[in-house]
Amino acid sequence: MDAPNSLPEPKTLQEAITYFADPDRAFQFAKGLRWPDGNVVCPRCGVAKNSFIKTRRLWFCYACKKQFTVKVKTIMEDSPIGLDKWMTAFWLLANAKNGISSHELGRALGVTQTTAWFMLQRIREVMKGRKFGNTTKIGGSGSEVEADETFVGGKVRNMHKARRQRFVKEEGFAGAATGKTVVHGMLDRNLRQVRAQVVPNVKRETLQNILLKNIKYGTKVYTDDAVAYTRDMNWRFVHDFVNKTESYVKGRVHVNGMENFWSLLKRALRGTYVAVEPFHLSRYVDEQVFRYNNRKDEEGRKITDAERFATVMSDVLGHRLTYSDLTGKSDSPHHAPTGTGTAQVKEPL
Ligand SMILES: [Zn+2]
Repeated sequence: MDAPNSLPEPKTLQEAITYFADPDRAFQFAKGLRWPDGNVVCPRCGVAKNSFIKTRRLWFCYACKKQFTVKVKTIMEDSPIGLDKWMTAFWLLANAKNGISSHELGRALGVTQTTAWFMLQRIREVMKGRKFGNTTKIGGSGSEVEADETFVGGKVRNMHKARRQRFVKEEGFAGAATGKTVVHGMLDRNLRQVRAQVVPNVKRETLQNILLKNIKYGTKVYTDDAVAYTRDMNWRFVHDFVNKTESYVKGRVHVNGMENFWSLLKRALRGTYVAVEPFHLSRYVDEQVFRYNNRKDEEGRKITDAERFATVMSDVLGHRLTYSDLTGKSDSPHHAPTGTGTAQVKEPL
């Protein structure tokens, strides 16, 4: 008889698929994330008095007299899709540099494109949850933040940058008139964290409000020379700007980090998400922000696929755990053995 946790924790997509294909293993993994100390608490009433119905992988709560699964009160709650497929989807979206289309995901999981689309949107919701991390503001005295905006969709996308700059300066109001969407972003160089969001226009008021809301007093803020930034900035920040059309780099004063982020975003949008409605664009931005912000840790060490996956899964199941915390859980005494009796049971998760 195979012990459900006998495989090492997955490191690659292929290993993840194999690992989570076993319903018991997927279940144990999710359970370990949700109740790391093994004390299973009812997600509805918070009472820890229950009995586990092993064959169906669910609990009966003695307090509220209802059953619950590991999926209750998560984004997976009302979905008939099994944990094995959900986990593979989480892994894929967390790690696919250019994103993954609902068609690709549908093929990979053996579900319809509609189902895959629904799953992807849910996962992006999770990624959005940590968009602004735990801190309310980025930057700080001595820190450097790049602020920049870009245009997605519409005709302006293919314009030469110099023309685009002029266009924006003259229009002042980029979005509505031209059918393109404005995305604004800020990069904290020390933290290596990006915050990006869809904004209604590039008016001074709009953009400066975002900076005020997100960036600490006294931060060195670098922008281009768009009119929105050339006034009223220095009372709050140490502001400097570059003329993008002339030189991209003026010492440390540049927005190349944000430019890099925009190119990643656009590559994903062009390659994978062929036609993104402006309405949905913010979700794709969140997704790209998540991957960007989870490329390296604060010391500059590369974050692994397994760690990125664990980050998403921890957010889904409500606990923030490091990957090593998880790995330590693999010998949990609470695992249910893989019995022959479970094979015929319809997956309730
Ligand atoms: Zn209960």
